[in-house]
Parts: sequence; C-alpha cells; structure tokens
Amino acid sequence: MNAVELLRLQGIKKSFGSVEVLRGLDLSVGRGEFITLLGPSGCGKTTTLRIIAGLEAADCGQVFIDGVDVSALDPDKRGVNMVFQNYALFPHMNVEQNVGYSLKLKSKPKAEIKKAVSDALALVRLSGFEKRRPDELSGGQRQRVAVARAVINQPKVLLLDEPLGALDLQLRREMQIELKRLQKQLGITFIYITHDQEEALTMSDRIAVMRGGVFEQIGSASGIYNRPKTGFVAGFAGANVLAGKAQDCTETAGENGEKKLNMDFVHPAGSVKTEFTENNGLRNIQNGQEILIAVREEYITLSPPGSGSTGLSAIVTGKNFTGGLLRVTARLKGADGGGEEISASRQGIDTNLEVGDEVLAVWLPSNAVLLERP
Ligand code: ATP
Repeated sequence: MNAVELLRLQGIKKSFGSVEVLRGLDLSVGRGEFITLLGPSGCGKTTTLRIIAGLEAADCGQVFIDGVDVSALDPDKRGVNMVFQNYALFPHMNVEQNVGYSLKLKSKPKAEIKKAVSDALALVRLSGFEKRRPDELSGGQRQRVAVARAVINQPKVLLLDEPLGALDLQLRREMQIELKRLQKQLGITFIYITHDQEEALTMSDRIAVMRGGVFEQIGSASGIYNRPKTGFVAGFAGANVLAGKAQDCTETAGENGEKKLNMDFVHPAGSVKTEFTENNGLRNIQNGQEILIAVREEYITLSPPGSGSTGLSAIVTGKNFTGGLLRVTARLKGADGGGEEISASRQGIDTNLEVGDEVLAVWLPSNAVLLERP
C-alpha cells in the first residue's frame, strides 16, 4: 500500500460463544483506497466491518483511524458510516427525511440540512426524488438513497456490506460503475464486502481474500487474479486448480539472469510443459514432488487429440455462453475413471466441440502459477 494510512486493524480477534470467528486480523488501508473483503459465507466479513464501525467489540486487538485508537469510541464518533445490503431505510420517511436524518439528530439548522441533502442527492443522481417514500422507488434508487444517507456526514471511511447483493445483474453492473465514480469523486476510503469475485476484481484497488477468520492473501486485484498464492485464493478468483507431480525439472537462467524452472506437470490425465519464474511462484521443486498449480480458464485450450500431441486428456461435459464468453467444461481422465472438472473460456460463441468429445487440455508453459501446498 503506497497511500498514507487511514485505517489499521491490529490483531483483531472475535469469538461468539466458543466459536472463534476472527482469528487475528491485521490490515492497513490507505486514504482514498477501495479495498474489498472477498470470501465465502460465514468467513467473518460482516463481523470485521461491524468491529470497524463500532457496532461490535473485538475480544482483542485495536482499530486505528487516522492514527487514533478508536476501539473504545462510540460508532458516531469514529468518522465511519455503513451501507447495509437491505439499505435499512425508514419506510415512513421520504427520501429527503431519510437522507437528512443524521443531521437532524445533530440538531443542524434546517437550511444547512436542506443544502446537504440536495448535494448528496445530486451526487447519487436522485435530484427531484426528495418527496418519494422508499416503497415508491426501484431497488437501484433505494440503494442510491442509502449511499446518499451514508455520505452526507462526510465520513472518512465508508463500509459497504454487499450493497448490490439485492440487485439484478444488469443494475448491479451499472451500480458498480456508479459507486466507483462516487468513491473517486469523494475521495472517501471504501471497505467493501462481496462474495462475487468478478465484482471484487472490477471495483477494487486491493482485495483481501478471507477464509475462516483470517486474511489468506491481500493484494492488488491483478495480483490476486494473476498470482494467487494458495488453491483457495486461486479457486475463489476463478482459476482451475490442479494437483500433480513435477518431472524433468531443469533450472535455467533467462536473458536477464532471472531463474527459470522448466518441468513437465504430470497428472493422471497426461502432462503439460510448464515454466516457473519469480512471476508465477517459482520455488525449489524436486523431480517427483507433488505440486499444486493454478491455470486461468482463458489460458486453457481444448482441442481434439491429434496424434503425438501431449496435454491432459478430458471429455467435454458442458458448454455455456455468458457475457460474451464461451465457457467449455471438461472432466479430466483420472487414475480410476473421472478426475476433476476444468473449465476453459474464450471470447465469442463458436466452437466445434460437443458434449462427450474427447479433448486435450493444454496451456502455454508460463501460464500456470505454482501454488503453496496447504
Ligand atoms: P455472509 O457472506 O454470509 O454475510 P460473513 O463472511 O459476513 O458471511 P459473518 O456475518 O461475519 O460472516 O459471520 C461469521 C460467523 O460468525 C458466522 O458463522 C456467523 O454465524 C457467526 N456470527 C455472526 N454474528 C454472530 C452473533 N451475533 N452471534 C453468534 N454468531 C454470530
């Protein structure tokens, strides 16, 4: 993280009864940064946000905002605001009253509230909707009201808990762009929760992948996408994860003197020549060693098995066209029948492959990432 630190979590732990939900979180977030907590249901994302907001107390560890330990401060004293998935708007109040509510609580003058509400509504492109009640708004509009209400206090940090979870895909994509625009315009630090890897990758400066109450990997969106460290992160970022053995390992030096490790990745379904450098997880690997690799689906080519060609033998199990991408799934031949399923994707709709076809799966040597074994 290059930016000046705005928020820091230090050794945060939390249990509910005998269940340890957060197991020691450390995180440093920069001013104006957009960071996403990505992870499966129950891994502790919401609990982390609630601890930052002051809605929940950590058992140990501290939350710092702007260098100040806010762990013992009330939620409204922290300079933090939260947007919830269900928006939590007051149904009996109109848009203007919902958005201005917190300023009214602080007994701000009427004219000041009116101006702030008007500015906040302009920001989320809802000018003219002041008198509508929440039930007279669409899902996307309700979501914008929730955001306007959260930014009206000019928080230093905005916490967003699956804010687009209730919207359909089309609206979700529009609102992703809208939220990102707003974040840049306001320069507010966003801590965002989603379990949608695509949403995380398109919106975030950095992603913290969470599993079982710890951060398994924190990195830029491209780092998580291109250089996952573990099978869990790779799988969550949408890559194929394959277990096999290294064979014919040879170490060479590239043009710039960097170390390269070439090997055959050997799987019960066949083998593929693979090359590792610092960029894709190079480590010392011996012949015969069990390894775990990740290969993104856009790097996998499935083609009819030609005579003499090598690759992993598989049977096509499905074809699916979504969002301009053709995704073909195939089951690898295992030692005892069926092995794991892999997916390959590319732009466009055409393919000669049919379900049941025999194929060879291959990738370019540098397109696999060597993962840490658990
Ligand atoms: P989701 O994506 O489903 O919202 P999450 O990653 O946000 O999940 P949390 O809501 O933080 O997960 O919950 C983490 C774990 O803590 C879960 O097992 C949940 O059941 C448990 N938990 C959360 N709040 C409480 C509570 N108040 N009392 C007891 N257990 C709780």
